[in-house]
Amino acid sequence: APPFDVERVRRDFPILGRRVYDKPLVYLDNAATSQKPRSVIDCESHYYEEYNANIHRGLHRLSQEATDAYEAARDYIQRFLNAARREEIVFVRGTTEAINLVAASYGQRLQPGDEILITAMEHHSNIVPWQLLCERSGAALRVVPIDDRGELMPDAFEHRLGRRTRLVAITHLSNALGTINPVKRLIAQAHASGAVVLVDGAQAVPHLKVDVQDLDCDFYAFSGHKIYGPTGIGVLYGKAALLNAMPPWQGGGDMIKQVTFARTTYNDLPYKFEAGTPNIAGGIALGAAMAYLDALGLEHVAAHEHDLLAYATGLATAIPGLRLIGTAADKTGILSFVLDGVHAHDVGTILDLEGVAVRSGHHCAMPVMVHFGVPATVRASFALYNTRHEVDALFAALAKVREVFT
Ligand code: PMP
Repeated sequence: APPFDVERVRRDFPILGRRVYDKPLVYLDNAATSQKPRSVIDCESHYYEEYNANIHRGLHRLSQEATDAYEAARDYIQRFLNAARREEIVFVRGTTEAINLVAASYGQRLQPGDEILITAMEHHSNIVPWQLLCERSGAALRVVPIDDRGELMPDAFEHRLGRRTRLVAITHLSNALGTINPVKRLIAQAHASGAVVLVDGAQAVPHLKVDVQDLDCDFYAFSGHKIYGPTGIGVLYGKAALLNAMPPWQGGGDMIKQVTFARTTYNDLPYKFEAGTPNIAGGIALGAAMAYLDALGLEHVAAHEHDLLAYATGLATAIPGLRLIGTAADKTGILSFVLDGVHAHDVGTILDLEGVAVRSGHHCAMPVMVHFGVPATVRASFALYNTRHEVDALFAALAKVREVFT
């Protein structure tokens, strides 16, 4: 058997059998959110049908089962990321919440004169929380520029990293360009100058093997829904020493040890950062999504997605008037482009009528659009279940766009 049988894999995803406008669905908007395999959908409904209960509190049987499954998912995520300790895995709503948690809690250490370093290819959720923190703390935001291939400018990171840099926040894989950043090297450089590093892994986790100990990142954030899991659940990984030293973020149930009106003491990690009833079903199903990916083998998945991108890039470069946005040497999963004389939204609308789902817009990365001098791009983003045949469908639909506009 081939190491990766995409037709077999496709049968695991019920939605892929759908038709839109009486055409087979060609789903190429995976960077926005991925589809879910049957095992994840079943896992979530099994929870609601068999053992729905609140966790960490009830002594009754269902509550124990729910708690065990939720905490087993945490253990799975710990192994998936190769985190040193289970309490370093904090459940959150998604990448956005993870970054806001760090900005609100760790950010309390920042003072006027301190600097936060990000890059010009960040998603808005890895820009705006830092701007808000700068407003609160008096710290300054500095930005590493990108070049015309969509890579960080050589040496620019080192040059902007200084004595005053307290925090570096950088994406592992750009959602607008597909660029893979050399985060391990950047983290080592940041540490050498005394800064802590948060990596936005929202796009990276479905495509790249992530080992947080090998990277040596201080924080790593991602969303469940982009890695074949549910929406409304995500993870903040943080080194235990840092998380322990950080003040709690939200207050409420589960994050406390003892509450009196005079004084409240906080729970141990990770519960200190998990106030209130969480997305229990989502956490459990995120574990199932990772198990699904593990069973396929991320190295096979990555090779398949690499092939799709190479194939699509080859077809794209043969089209007159098509300009690729993002041509980094090291990239995966994302083909972003503009067509001469046609607005990205018009492209998206015509593709949609052909059953091809892509994203047209600024991809929550407006500074990237400004850098390339375009209002928006068309973005086809690949997942493990996409095929070369679907890439062909994309380009057949693009030929229709040309017909309409000439
Ligand atoms: N960072 C990157 C690189 C992303 O692609 C996204 C989602 N588009 C986010 C952060 C935000 O993720 P979420 O909306 O799931 O919080």
